[in-house]
Amino acid sequence: MSTIKTFQAVNPANGKLLDGIFANTSSEEIDAVLKNATKAFETYRKKDSTEIANFLDAIADEIINLGDALLERCHQETALPLARLQGERGRTVNQLKLFATTVREGSWVDARIDTAIADRLPLPKPDIRQMLIPIGPVAVFGASNFPLAFSVAGGDTASALAAGCPVVVKAHPAHPGTSQMIASAIAKAIEITKMPKGVFSLIQGNTNEVGAALVQHPDIKAVGFTGSFKGGKALFDLANARPEPIPVFAEMGSTNPVFILPNILEQKATTIATGLANSITLNGGQFCTTPGLTFIQKSSVATAFTADLAKAIEAIPATTMLTEGINKAFHDKINSTTQSQKIQFIAKGQESTSPNQATAQLLRTTAVEFLAEVSLEEENFGPSNIIIEATSKLETLDAANSLKGHLTATVFGTDADFKEYSDLLAILEKKVGRIILNGYPTGVEVCPSIVHGGPFPATTALQSTSVGTNAIKRFARPICFQDYPENLLPKALKNNNPLGIWRLKNGTFTK
Ligand code: NAP
Repeated sequence: MSTIKTFQAVNPANGKLLDGIFANTSSEEIDAVLKNATKAFETYRKKDSTEIANFLDAIADEIINLGDALLERCHQETALPLARLQGERGRTVNQLKLFATTVREGSWVDARIDTAIADRLPLPKPDIRQMLIPIGPVAVFGASNFPLAFSVAGGDTASALAAGCPVVVKAHPAHPGTSQMIASAIAKAIEITKMPKGVFSLIQGNTNEVGAALVQHPDIKAVGFTGSFKGGKALFDLANARPEPIPVFAEMGSTNPVFILPNILEQKATTIATGLANSITLNGGQFCTTPGLTFIQKSSVATAFTADLAKAIEAIPATTMLTEGINKAFHDKINSTTQSQKIQFIAKGQESTSPNQATAQLLRTTAVEFLAEVSLEEENFGPSNIIIEATSKLETLDAANSLKGHLTATVFGTDADFKEYSDLLAILEKKVGRIILNGYPTGVEVCPSIVHGGPFPATTALQSTSVGTNAIKRFARPICFQDYPENLLPKALKNNNPLGIWRLKNGTFTK
C-alpha cells in the first residue's frame, strides 16, 4: 500500500459516480488508528455502565439528527427503496438503544460467585468469582446489504461498544458516503458524552489489502463480519494465521431451506406460494435469510403449488441490485446452475428495464440430483429459488441430513405433519441457528432471544449470534478472581451487589 488509491461511490441505478472521493486507508494510518484505539481502551473499559449506555443512546440520537440527508445518500449508494431505509434506520437506532438498556441493567456480565468454605475437608475451598470483561479493539466489516443496521453503527459495532471495546470499522466500498455520515454521528456522540476519541474509528477502502491489514494488526482482538463466504473465510484464515490468532465472528450467508410438508400443501398451497414468492424476492433477494431452496414431495398438489409459485414469481418486477458485481455474480450463478440438464427452469420475473437489475428466477430439480450436486446448496445472493422434489419421506430426510450449516430452516406443516415429521425437526436442529414454523425466514427480530448464526459455513463461530443482546458476549471474555478482598473486587462481584444485577451465587440465581 505505498501509493494511496482513491475511489468514488457508484449509483447502481444508473452507473454514475457520486460526489465524494474516498482514500484507501494506508497501513501507517491503520497503525495510528490502532494506537488510539488501544489507548482509548484503557479509559473506556473503566467507564461505568451508565456512561456506556448514555454513549450508545447518544449515537442513536445523532443518527436521527442526520435527518433525511442520510437516507437520500444511502438510497443513491444502494438503490434500496427509501421506505426500506427508513425502517432500517429505525432498526439501527432501536438496536443501539436495546444495547444501552442491556448495559444499564448490567446482568449481561454473567457474574458468578462461589464463596469460600474455610473449614472444608480435606482442603479449604477458596473464594472464586467470575464475570465477563471486554477483550479490546474490535474490527468490524460493514455489509453491503444492510448499509445501516449491519454497517458502521450496526449490530457488531453496537454490541462491541456495549461490551466496553473500542471499534474500528472497515466501511463497505459500496456505501462510503453513508458510512462517513454515520461516523460523523458517532464522533458527535463521543464529544457529547466525553468518551475517549479513539473509541471509534472508520477506515475506508475498496481493496482486500485494507481489510487484511486491519485483521492482521496485532492490536485487533476480534473481528465482526457480514458478507460473502469468500470474504469471511479469507479473513477468518488471516486471523488464524496471525502469531496471536483471534476470534472471527463472520456471518457468511446461507440458503435457508424451506420444507413444505404434505398435509399443509393440500390445505394452503396458494397462500404459501404467494408468501414464499414475496420472501424470495424482497429487496431483490438481498438478505442473508432469503429462502433459496424449497423442499416438497411429488404429488398433484405439489405440481399445483409449483404452478402457483411460478405465477407469483412471474409478476415480480426486476430489482436494481446493490452493486454491479453482485448483479453479475447472481446472473453468472443462475447461468452455471441451469447448464445442467437436471435443473429445470420453471419461471422468471419481469425483465430488467435499467442497469444492474436482476430478474427473479425459479428452478426445479429432484432430491436425488440435490444429493449428487453439492453446489446446489450454495447461496446465490439475489431473487432465486430452487424447488427440490422428493419422492418419499425418506428422500426428504436424506436431503435434510445432507445439509451443511445455515442461518435458518423453515417448516410448513399441520399438527399431523409435525408429528409425522418430528425426525425432520430433529435433523434441522443440528443444521441451523433458527427454525421457523409456518412463517417466512426473511425478517430477523432484534430481541434478547433471537439467534442470527448457525454452524459453518453460515458462520465461523457457531456458539454466537450477530443479532440480539446475546451478541455482546462475542466481544467479552470470562475472568476469574480468586481470593480477592472485597475492596479489590469489581462492583459486579462485590458482596453487597451494589449494581443490583442478577448473579449466580453459590449455585442460586439471586439479586
Ligand atoms: P464481500 O465481498 O464479502 O465484502 C464484504 C467486506 O469484506 C467488504 O468490506 C470487502 O472489502 C471485505 N473483503 C472481502 N473479501 C476480502 C478479503 N479477501 N480480504 C480482505 N477484505 C475482504 O461482500 P459484498 O461485497 O457485499 O458482496 C459480494 C458477495 O457477497 C455477493 O455477491 C453475495 O454473494 C455475498 N453477500 C452475502 C451477504 C449475506 O448476508 N449472506 C451479504 C452481502 C453479500 P473490499 O472489497 O474492499 O476488500
